[in-house]
Amino acid sequence: MKYKLIFLSFFFCFFYLGCTERNLDLVTGNENLKVFQNIRIIVGNGTIIENGALAFENGVIIYSGPQSDMEINSNAMIYESAGLTMMPAIIDTHTHLGNSVDSLTRDLQQRASIGIAAAMSMGTDDLGTPLEFRVNPPSQSARYFSAGRGITMPEPGRSEIPHWVTNENEAREAVRAEAERNVDMIKIWVDDRNGQYEKLSPDLFSAIIDEAHTLGLRVSAHIFNLDDAKELVESGVDVLAHGVRDQDIDEEFIQLVQNHPDLVLIANLPSSGRVFDYDWLEYHLTEDQLIDLRTNNIERPEMEEFFSIQARNLARLSDTGTIIALGTDGNTFWAPHIEMEEMVFAGMNPHDVIIAATKNGAELLLQDDLGTLEVGKSASFILLNDNPLADIRNTRAMVSIYLDGNEIFNAR
Ligand SMILES: [Zn+2]
Repeated sequence: MKYKLIFLSFFFCFFYLGCTERNLDLVTGNENLKVFQNIRIIVGNGTIIENGALAFENGVIIYSGPQSDMEINSNAMIYESAGLTMMPAIIDTHTHLGNSVDSLTRDLQQRASIGIAAAMSMGTDDLGTPLEFRVNPPSQSARYFSAGRGITMPEPGRSEIPHWVTNENEAREAVRAEAERNVDMIKIWVDDRNGQYEKLSPDLFSAIIDEAHTLGLRVSAHIFNLDDAKELVESGVDVLAHGVRDQDIDEEFIQLVQNHPDLVLIANLPSSGRVFDYDWLEYHLTEDQLIDLRTNNIERPEMEEFFSIQARNLARLSDTGTIIALGTDGNTFWAPHIEMEEMVFAGMNPHDVIIAATKNGAELLLQDDLGTLEVGKSASFILLNDNPLADIRNTRAMVSIYLDGNEIFNAR
């Protein structure tokens, strides 16, 4: 079936022929209808369309499919994009964003500028944090999600933003307080930090999970040990915000995860200690920031073992069909592009990594209109010079970025 866009005349804009903003500003064109043609589309749902076309109007995708099935007879803005690859904008499901209007605005705008459509701040958002940005975001920013103040046992010396609870009443009360703030998820920490602290016991985290589920909220757990991961999955936790880090997972755990098919694992790998390419950040960082990055860009073989455990665990869970999402922890806006490289290095294939970084993240954040490039979804995508399925580092070869149909960045 042919999809027809019926308008009056053709307009072609070639990326590499000095197309200027003025040329794009069609006098007779429908500025709200844009067509990218002759592109490879990584849809995000497992489908790849070679020689594809994508059209969107008022920020919503109205065609995504083979070029040959689309007849354009229109005065839409047409971007002749031969050789380019389009993928959905990225979702970072585990970050720790700024708590002030200024810092959070910067964090969300920087993320947008590098192809991140949404970011979840995981449990370190104090009472002064402008959670209202979720409804009224700053201009040109990634969508913002927050787990508010997370819940843990007392951890003196660490962040005092989370709730410190020592009994079931306090634990349930903390969940209710966050539900009152209308957070997007409940975050808990189950980690004795190398024997320094008492960690949340199964009694307490079971109560938290129970209270959260009663209130319609999901629970995401910071974990370190395999044993805790098992207890949490058995207790019905919804999200593991890290992989198992102390040892290789066993058959029992894999079975347990398979018995909980809705469980989401945020891969959140540590650095593999390799040297990385940062040249692609020249557009996005200051000279000083780049110098700093490059100075510290050395091989760190001591990190290999810690990475390897989590890499093997991630690859095994990915192979057995666990839902994997991308998360980077911390507050480095460009980190998802490095994390995707690390996920491939860990043993996942590039296509699965892209799905983790797009569709799975969008589903985790309950964003029906993000994550894939299908009809009816938001026009939130990255246009790339090279194919990331061939080399995942090509997610950095950004030609342009659109979020909700608005051009956020272009390298022309
Ligand atoms: Zn974290």
